[in-house]
Amino acid sequence: MANITCPKCGDQSYFSLAEYKGPFRCKKCRETFNIIIENGEVKSSQPVNQSEVDKLNIRTHEKAESHDGDTPL
Ligand SMILES: [Zn+2]
Repeated sequence: MANITCPKCGDQSYFSLAEYKGPFRCKKCRETFNIIIENGEVKSSQPVNQSEVDKLNIRTHEKAESHDGDTPL
């Protein structure tokens, strides 16, 4: 498990996977990053531009509690 600090806005998100490689979207600023988590630590986080985001099939890990009616993209 890992805590991710958004490189853009500094918001912290809790990530429930110890191993993950792929897109992550900040809930606060909605910026998308490619992240790599290994052994519960964030090894890399790179901003993804919007055109790349559109190509990605983003797997959100958001749970139902955060749904506020708008769609992920
Ligand atoms: Zn952010």
